[in-house]
Amino acid sequence: MGQLELKLTRANFATWLHNTFISQFGGGEVVVGVPHSLAKEWLEKRCFKDIVLALEEITSAPVRSLSCRVEAKPSNLAPIMISVPGGMVNTGGNDGYGFTTTESMEQAPPSGNITLNNNYSFQTFVVGKQNELAHAASQAVSSHPGGTYNPLFIYGGVGLGKTHLLHAIANEIKRRNQNHRIMYVTCEHFTNDFIHSIRIGKGKEFKDRYRNVDLLLIDDVQFITGKEGTQEEFFHTFNTLHQANRQIVMTADRMPKEIGDLEDRLVSRIGWGMVADIQTPNFENRVAILQAKAKQMNFDAPPEVLEYIANTITNNIRELEGSLTKLATTATVEKRPVTVGLVKEVMKDLARPSGRHLTTKQIIRVVADHFAIDLIDLMGQKRVREIVYPRQIVMYLLRYLLKHSHPQIGDELGGKDHTTIMHGVKKIERLLKSDHQVERDVANIKRLLEVGG
Ligand code: ADP
Ligand code: MG
Repeated sequence: MGQLELKLTRANFATWLHNTFISQFGGGEVVVGVPHSLAKEWLEKRCFKDIVLALEEITSAPVRSLSCRVEAKPSNLAPIMISVPGGMVNTGGNDGYGFTTTESMEQAPPSGNITLNNNYSFQTFVVGKQNELAHAASQAVSSHPGGTYNPLFIYGGVGLGKTHLLHAIANEIKRRNQNHRIMYVTCEHFTNDFIHSIRIGKGKEFKDRYRNVDLLLIDDVQFITGKEGTQEEFFHTFNTLHQANRQIVMTADRMPKEIGDLEDRLVSRIGWGMVADIQTPNFENRVAILQAKAKQMNFDAPPEVLEYIANTITNNIRELEGSLTKLATTATVEKRPVTVGLVKEVMKDLARPSGRHLTTKQIIRVVADHFAIDLIDLMGQKRVREIVYPRQIVMYLLRYLLKHSHPQIGDELGGKDHTTIMHGVKKIERLLKSDHQVERDVANIKRLLEVGG
């Protein structure tokens, strides 16, 4: 787990590796237990090579077969000991190697800062009409933190480069001045950190941590919706930093005034600085991004192949990137020439022509993204409001958009009783009539799913 944590992004690690465990090990055969089929699919698609490499490196023995199986992590899981040259390694039974799980994160004080991704720099950011303002403002902030563009607020849809720019600002400021105290957090992290600090009576430490920085970057602030206490705290943090001319940068998936129940006083303060949007790239820019990525990967693809991808995926750069990577891997592993035929084949299940078929997975993903919560939590059993409400929205959407039956939805959500589903769907139906916030949430999610608000 330690090795994989270094290789994957923190979010991917937390989302997909969390609650996996080695279920069977011996004779070169390894079975990884995973909490649900989404994780199985992701691991198989994206992570098998890394798992095999890590295992082989640690055990110095070849892995002949690796598979994933959906099974609950037994609560009394005994750590499996693997003999390795010079000692034993614990595979992470419950008392074993303590990789971070959501449960343990609630006890341990959150670190309060997320590692910067060095690949997210200005050098690797492709500028086009759709993002030139956000890009220019980000660069201005990097050269004059705390200057005219304070705060800087960047908004735009999923996968369009907001997080990339945030990291680029931090990386650039760090490069220019090693002594700058930089704090990069997701809004979710800020919230958890805040709640945790209150619970353990360390409110002052929390304040010190966030108010004594030169640069505060908060990603996905739309997640602050419905969290009054956190908003209050954020407001004070904001004021303290702003008065001291410290730079604040925020991102969100929508404009400040569209963030449900974001207090007016916060909205107006955001207006003091710079609000920049990122739109979806046009065809030419999508091709330019693909060219840049292909070059970075040292991958030769003829123009018509890149154009095919750019024509197929139109509104999410992360997916553009994903398709290219998938193509490169297939071409390399299967030693096949990079042609339009191959890319068509590779993208068959990724293709999303307009009027495409919406899937359960897309709905779950978009809802998790919208509320900035873990897929694992969404599909899990947690009963806190922050999770239950999004989960009920998923139930509602599966029922109404995909017309799935209650028992079917129960299965899709990790084995829930159909009465739970019925209750959830009814609840959202009712709230839609009385609660504007719910109406806005559902409309926004539908917009993200492109099924009309
Ligand atoms: P968001 O935070 O808006 O959801 P991200 O910043 O995570 O999106 O971007 C998704 C992926 O697309 C990242 O891998 C990022 O590096 C890449 N990306 C986004 N915009 C650009 C761009 N203009 N040039 C190069 N890569 C980009
Ligand atoms: Mg992001």
